[in-house]
Formats: sequence, structure tokens, C-alpha cells
Amino acid sequence: MFVGGSVISSVEFHAHMALVIFMSKCPLACRYCHNVELLEDDTEKSFEEIKHEIDSSADFLDAVVISGGEPLVQTDEVIEILTYIRSIGLKTKLDTSGIYPDKLKKILDLDLVDFISLDVKAPFSKYRKITGADIGSEVKKSMDLINSYGVHLEIRTTFVPTLHSKEDIVVIAVEIESDVYTIQQFRNRNVLDPALEKVEVPNPHDLAELAGEIKPHFKGIVKVKSAEFGEQVI
Ligand code: SF4
Repeated sequence: MFVGGSVISSVEFHAHMALVIFMSKCPLACRYCHNVELLEDDTEKSFEEIKHEIDSSADFLDAVVISGGEPLVQTDEVIEILTYIRSIGLKTKLDTSGIYPDKLKKILDLDLVDFISLDVKAPFSKYRKITGADIGSEVKKSMDLINSYGVHLEIRTTFVPTLHSKEDIVVIAVEIESDVYTIQQFRNRNVLDPALEKVEVPNPHDLAELAGEIKPHFKGIVKVKSAEFGEQVI
């Protein structure tokens, strides 16, 4: 399987200690993508190597997060890893862009995930501008599917000042349904579109203010994630 790397983190699974495994490959081309090196990375690891990596830190882990890239490009491999994580009693989380609702359904049918983070990158009708592909309806299908299975769902949007307006974020807040909505701070280093390297990183106080504005439009918990303050509940 194609795996670009892994890190241990306490911010990817609601304050649980988690091993985050970055599956390579993604068919999208989000202009602000900062995992550029993962998009076409050809580093291969065997399931045994991944298993060894999980086992060697399992004593102090609560969870394993499968992230990317887009993990569902390698659905069978992801199922193999998730099944193993479940078998040793750790919690599981999947990060996805929601472009493969049918593959996602396969994982939901197997009851392999405790928590899903779904990127909603734009209002569903404006996806092409951000990702280069008109896939908003597929992402909405994924969101509805996850909610129908009752899996804990966080929806995340990376706010890029030149690509999103504040109104876009309000529209997203109205369109989505999830337990948590997180506005993430855009980072301007190592991004796919070099023009975005000149765009200023949004101030975390402005993001908190924006999050406050959308609260009346969203039923769940609203958060902001920034380099300065980590994860803040608004
Ligand atoms: S931001 Fe995520 S979905 Fe978009 S190109 Fe990068 S890895 Fe793929």
C-alpha cells in the first residue's frame, strides 16, 4: 500500500493520543493542499510494517487516525488496517474528502469507524472553484450517509481568504449537518497553487469572530483550529 508517513498527535481525535497514518494519493487538486508530497507519493509499506508501527506505540495510544491524501483511494488496504486497529481495542478515525460515498458505505457497513472527519471545502454548489472538480453532490451524499449510520462526525473547512468569502462559510454552516464544525486556518507554505503562498494566513481572532457569526446557523459544536491556539471551542 502507498503510505507517506505517520505522526503521533493529541489534536486529531478530541484530545486522545493517536497515531496518524497518512495514506498517499488523491485524485483532487485543491489549490490550498499542503500535503502536496502525498498526492503522487510512491512510497510503499506492507501491512506487516503498518501493523508493527501500530503495535510499537499501542501502549500509549487511544486511537489510530487514517488520513491522507484521500485514504479511500486505497479502500481495501484501509479496511485491513481499520480491522486490525479494532481487533486490538483502539478507537478508529477516518479523514476523508467525501468524494467516494460508495467506498465509504463499504466501511460504514463493516462498522469499522468511531469518528469521521469530512472536509467540506466549499458550499456544495461551488466545489469546482476550490478543488477543480464539481463533486459537491458526492460530498453531500457522504455526509448524509455518515449521519444515517450515526457515526460521530466532524466537518472541516479550511478558510482561505482569497478563495472563500465569509458568506461561503455561513452557507456551508447552513448546508451541513454534523456533531462538530471546525474552521481551519489556511497555511500558506508548501501549497499546491504557488499563487496562494502570497496570501496572508488568517488571523485566529478573525476566525473566532467568524465562527461566532455562524453559531446561530449550526446546531452542533463550532471550533476553530489555528497554529497559534490549537483547537478552540467557540
Ligand atoms: S487537500 Fe486533501 S482532498 Fe485536496 S488535494 Fe490535498 S489531500 Fe486531496
